[in-house]
Amino acid sequence: MKIIMLGAPGAGKGTQAKMIAEKYGLPHISTGDIFRANIKNGTELGKEAKEYMDKGLLVPDELTVRLLLDRVAKDDCRNGYVLDGFPRTIPQAEVLDAELAKLGEKVDYAINVDVPDENIVNRMSGRRACLSCGATYHIVSIPPKKEGICDVCGSELVLRDDDRPETVQKRLTVYHEQTQPLIDFYEKKGALRSVDGTLPMEEVFAAITEILG
Ligand code: AMP
Repeated sequence: MKIIMLGAPGAGKGTQAKMIAEKYGLPHISTGDIFRANIKNGTELGKEAKEYMDKGLLVPDELTVRLLLDRVAKDDCRNGYVLDGFPRTIPQAEVLDAELAKLGEKVDYAINVDVPDENIVNRMSGRRACLSCGATYHIVSIPPKKEGICDVCGSELVLRDDDRPETVQKRLTVYHEQTQPLIDFYEKKGALRSVDGTLPMEEVFAAITEILG
């Protein structure tokens, strides 16, 4: 099963993607996590990506697509995957489609986690991330067991640079201009399913499992 997650930054698609991956035994692939790991390790790719990420802009398609195609070619992706944060532009979606078509495959579900803009900025300011293992929390809705410390690996939690209010506004504009058109794209292909992302996390997940079976 090949699933992609759509939704504005902060809609909760990462949290849902991880829960789907665990329940269905699929790899969770987040292009944002891959970029952040590269930044942490000081790679050339990381340096290039950071320039865009810190401004709330998308990393250029060419770089992102290459990275994603390498990742989904790995053995653990044979039975499918959950893509979180990819595709984010129509050209990225077209490349993914074309690559899958070569293998006689397609995206089975594009899950749109729908949250209005008004809710997004508040949500993002409460978000905390572990830069070591990629786990994410929210100070109100998904707090860690110990304040400021990752439950999974014990590292310190931070407010990501790109989750700061001034950057969030830019990311929302970029989302509407470049990523939202994917909703129509997948609707036309019959793969789109929308869920109400303003509901509590467990209810959103229940709606998604209803769809995936
Ligand atoms: P995320 O963790 O998915 O919110 O991604 C954080 C940042 O990484 C985004 O704001 C972009 O700058 C960059 N990024 C992640 N995925 C992509 C993608 N598919 N295309 C372009 N940039 C991306």
